Amino acid sequence: MTKIQFELDGQQVEANAGETIWQVAKRHQKEIPHLCYSPEPDYRPDGNCRACMVEIEGERVLAASCKRTPSVGMKVKTESARAVAAQKMVMELLVADQPARETSHDPDSKFWHWAEKVEVTESRFPAAERWAGDTSHPAMSVNLDACIQCGLCVRACREVQVNDVIGMAYRNAGAKIVFDFDDPMGESTCVACGECVQACPTGALMPSVMLDEKQTRVTYADRQVDSLCPFCGVGCQVTYQVKDEKVIYAEGRDGPANHNRLCVKGRFGFDYIHHPHRLTKPLVRLPNAKKDANDQVDPANPFTHFREASWEEALDIAAKGLVKIRDEKGVKALAGFGSAKGSNEEAYLFQKLVRTGFGSNNVDHCTRLCHASSVAALMEGLNSGAVSAPFAAAMDAEVIIVIGANPTVNHPVAATYLKNAAKRGAKLIVMDPRKQALSRHAWKHLAFKPGSDVAMLNAMLHTIITEGLTDQQYIAGYTEGFDELAERIKEFPPEKMEAICGIPAETLKEVARVYARSRASIIFWGMGISQHIHGTDNARCLIALALTTGQVGRPGTGLHPLRGQNNVQGASDAGLIPMFLPDYQPVGRTDLREPFEKLWHQDLDPVRGLTVVEIMNAIHAGEITGMYIEGENPAMSDPDLQHAREALAMLDHLVVQDLFVTETAFHADVILPASAFAEKSGTFTNTDRRVQLAREVIRPPGDARQDLWIIQEIGKRMGLPWNYNGPADVFTEMTQVMPSLNNITWERLVREGAVTYPVDDPNKPGNEIIFTTGFPTESGRGKIVPAKVVPPDEIPDAEYPMVLSTGRVLEHWHTGSMTRRASVLDQIEPEAVAFMSPKDMRRLSVWPGDFIKLETRRGAVEVKVRSDRDVPENMVFMPFCYAEAAANLLTNPALDPFGKIPEFKFCAVRAEKVALQSAAE
Ligand code: SF4
Repeated sequence: MTKIQFELDGQQVEANAGETIWQVAKRHQKEIPHLCYSPEPDYRPDGNCRACMVEIEGERVLAASCKRTPSVGMKVKTESARAVAAQKMVMELLVADQPARETSHDPDSKFWHWAEKVEVTESRFPAAERWAGDTSHPAMSVNLDACIQCGLCVRACREVQVNDVIGMAYRNAGAKIVFDFDDPMGESTCVACGECVQACPTGALMPSVMLDEKQTRVTYADRQVDSLCPFCGVGCQVTYQVKDEKVIYAEGRDGPANHNRLCVKGRFGFDYIHHPHRLTKPLVRLPNAKKDANDQVDPANPFTHFREASWEEALDIAAKGLVKIRDEKGVKALAGFGSAKGSNEEAYLFQKLVRTGFGSNNVDHCTRLCHASSVAALMEGLNSGAVSAPFAAAMDAEVIIVIGANPTVNHPVAATYLKNAAKRGAKLIVMDPRKQALSRHAWKHLAFKPGSDVAMLNAMLHTIITEGLTDQQYIAGYTEGFDELAERIKEFPPEKMEAICGIPAETLKEVARVYARSRASIIFWGMGISQHIHGTDNARCLIALALTTGQVGRPGTGLHPLRGQNNVQGASDAGLIPMFLPDYQPVGRTDLREPFEKLWHQDLDPVRGLTVVEIMNAIHAGEITGMYIEGENPAMSDPDLQHAREALAMLDHLVVQDLFVTETAFHADVILPASAFAEKSGTFTNTDRRVQLAREVIRPPGDARQDLWIIQEIGKRMGLPWNYNGPADVFTEMTQVMPSLNNITWERLVREGAVTYPVDDPNKPGNEIIFTTGFPTESGRGKIVPAKVVPPDEIPDAEYPMVLSTGRVLEHWHTGSMTRRASVLDQIEPEAVAFMSPKDMRRLSVWPGDFIKLETRRGAVEVKVRSDRDVPENMVFMPFCYAEAAANLLTNPALDPFGKIPEFKFCAVRAEKVALQSAAE
């Protein structure tokens, strides 16, 4: 790399290629004022505030050091009289228009820091007329009297998060920052990622929680702790600010996954941990509180049916009930659900408890409901269930396919990189029956008919094979099964598939050609692919696309199933699944089971256990009578909820460990108050295979305890000789039986914060991109498996003529147990809602806000309807987070035969307007 020699304040220095004068000065410990420039996070320099002016010998005017790059021999003076006078003058002009520091919105802002530093905190100039404030948003306050129009918030919104809500409007002295068309922020299309608040140097944009009614900052943190976000699989790194042992604010930090970015959940969704309904004492069911599947937890008083108990008593009751069933009815009469929200260590210990304490493999978790079919296809084809490349690989791609995923809602920070890549020129292709925010950035959106994924993808494969767009060298070197695919794919010409999937044959061909021919193509997918009875077939098609074209194992290529919860990757890796021991080692393989039996000093069950839905069926059949559920909420997340709730109510003994009396805990015999994310240390693995360390930010409230301690106490009471001294001990044991963790130690994680597996050497970083030279299969080749077209299980008919699809909204996470108790998130999206196309609403004669009744063969709910042009005709989309209108009362429990995942994304539904009186009832 060419270095540039130049003189900085009389000293010979070197600049790296592309480095600005400001950056070189910073490396040499010189402080140059800067307001509109943000080196951390690294925003594009704009040079508009002129606070960073420096003198360059021989040049008539001063230069903005944040933008100017040095040239060979240049002589730069940062501290000359001219430079300093200019820096001071800029500050004095800006100070003139600010509220005085003592009454300013944030006397501790970057602006006042620099004013103090250059010794200009007052001004000789008259103040200009300023704009009024705006407190219309529940999370952020707009104080435009402090705005210096540096444009950092515009760049944050437009260039970093790519939301395009904030802009500069009007002219001359009237110019100002606006939201959309100068709407109040709370009524604009703002998605509350808070990037602008984090970027603002003056306090013109601030988190409302820090301000009093005069919009003056009154809240300052006592301390701050670095940890992670508790919600999605992106795994954003966060710094939590703490005051009086309460988390008051969350800021993004420079983690490898997020580079300071956060979304609304990560930034403003933390206060559920302080909710008044938080469990702080163990609870035991009252003797006269009968279990009834139709009985609902009272949101105002969730503690009815229970009495408080000591830990000793609660743990004894919990463990004795499990032991009694195990000893009297046999080991298969017990089952456990662990949690993808817990740490790797908790997941490992929980599955070890079920396998050694309960005695069977009846252990599962929410992966069964999100990506089980993706993992089934990936294991079958590549013998690895994880992503081949991180989501940031999109930045190196020429073509990006996003199919069956809605990342701006479900993985918002990952979506920012996809939008960044599209802005940079990558061809983004979104494939989904519903349109979405990402579609605005897409080259093409393929709104195929719901459930016709295989027809569409096979048509693309047909084009690739018949037009000779395959990578023959790659196929010959790294794959097997191509000939069978080539034969079978003849049945799926685009002209024939057009009628099935609703996408014109020419479009299918065009997209196939673009994907196959590009230098680097990458595929992201979500639950729109996996949550079907043909979910495994859907994923097989995506794997075949990558393998036939060689679009895997290189920068900008790959296969990336976007993982849902914050630790669903880690929980699966740690063995929280009924057919695999940790690291996906099949329970039936004696040679792979033996190392565990040796380490755990016990023979293990060689028969695979039951999955989530199978466990509910086994309860109905009287085969399972006792369960231990840690941090999962099947009474909201399972399909056909009535069936699931009846199962939970039928159990002789149910132990639930959670933060709140959830819909599931409501049916428990014992509830054990657990620790929230911010209250524990442990490792979490994000969607990129990145193992990251979370740190305890505050202590659990009242008598709530660490999950790891609770699992261990149950284990001890079931006769297990456990003596772990905390997560580091458990992690160290995991490394003995999980080759994926080779060269990752607890100490390394403490030191580095995050390490991506696999890692070849203790001193080398992990491999972000895998499958560079083949696959970890027995033959070393990736297996191409053809897929056939299978229709959804329940086709609309005259009785139930529409399609119901379920998913999430931006503000609420999973079953809402955390986010609906987060004050800001609940204020933004406070009530249950279903989304429908304007045409269907007209047909049903309903207006936005009217109640509709949705009915399927399994149940009915009444819910408010919202008009959404992105929803295709004849479809209803419903988030599954609302207990008062639980979408899963309606969904179909039919399973994919391989992944055993239910068909959440498709069932037949009837919609009708609800008479006003009925809605009021
Ligand atoms: Fe948290 Fe995911 Fe949002 Fe990041 S993108 S802040 S991990 S919810």
